[in-house]
Amino acid sequence: MHVSLLKTSVLSMAVLFNSIASADVTTRGHVLTSTIWNTNSIHVCWENLNDSTAADRASVQEAVENSWEANSNVNFFGWNECERSSDGIRIQVADSTEFGAHVDGLGTRIRGRQNGMSLNFTYENWNQNCQSSRRWCNEVIAVHEFGHALGFAHEQNRQDTPDTCDEPTQGTNGDIDIGRWDLSSVMNYCNPQYNGNGELSETDILMVRTFYGPEVQTSVLLDNDHYSVYVGSNLTINAAYSIEDIVDSTSWLWSLGDGASSSSQNSVTHSYANKGRYNVTVSVSDSEGYSADKSAEVYVYGFEALLPAINMMMF
Ligand SMILES: [Zn+2]
Repeated sequence: MHVSLLKTSVLSMAVLFNSIASADVTTRGHVLTSTIWNTNSIHVCWENLNDSTAADRASVQEAVENSWEANSNVNFFGWNECERSSDGIRIQVADSTEFGAHVDGLGTRIRGRQNGMSLNFTYENWNQNCQSSRRWCNEVIAVHEFGHALGFAHEQNRQDTPDTCDEPTQGTNGDIDIGRWDLSSVMNYCNPQYNGNGELSETDILMVRTFYGPEVQTSVLLDNDHYSVYVGSNLTINAAYSIEDIVDSTSWLWSLGDGASSSSQNSVTHSYANKGRYNVTVSVSDSEGYSADKSAEVYVYGFEALLPAINMMMF
């Protein structure tokens, strides 16, 4: 079922998706937890892949990379032409008088569904204000729709939406609220910036990290400091520049503090299975018998470190 878009002042109106809110107006929220993907790697394909849309498709991919992917451990892959059996998010490109950009449901409700997400690259029939800024519209609308595809509902659907936001609720509600109500969310119709200009707010980032994990941390120097990392995230520890006096070292021995060890040179990449504090040491020696040790402490957090910010609202 698609919803017709009749308003002409479309830039002031956010993007449609067609799962109309249930009659139970108390079930407002933000994230529909039952539709969160059980994987960080989500396949994306295009239903009607056409060479003429290559630049537009690339801009959509880049916008998603610079927003949801850059701020969490979620990874959208593929971006190829859909096949009959394609799983994940299936995007059609359409410019219809009948419907605007939308998803057919939140999160996994569109998993493998043909035309599960609709995007518009030409704006001749819908959102005509975008014709003068097509590329920008492609990007900010994609960020919004991919938010839905991750299971995130409209921010103004939340029960704690203040009176100053009078946009009506739209689409499926969530069942949990993350963080404070956020005017600057890319999922908020009341945001004075259309789709938040495609830039994730603090709440958006907290939301995506909570459900898909924080972005992978990489490449810190071993310098007797301490580092923070989340359970399961890769941490690359580099000692090459902190032990300059033995750059011709022939022997490396890393102890990661959780029983793991490594003899890899210069750096080591490791992820911790359990939260806690770990002491990382490296012992380096060269052919002339000189040696040096360095150490640092790694604090490994579980995702529940984020939970104090979560206001559980289950109805
Ligand atoms: Zn929406």
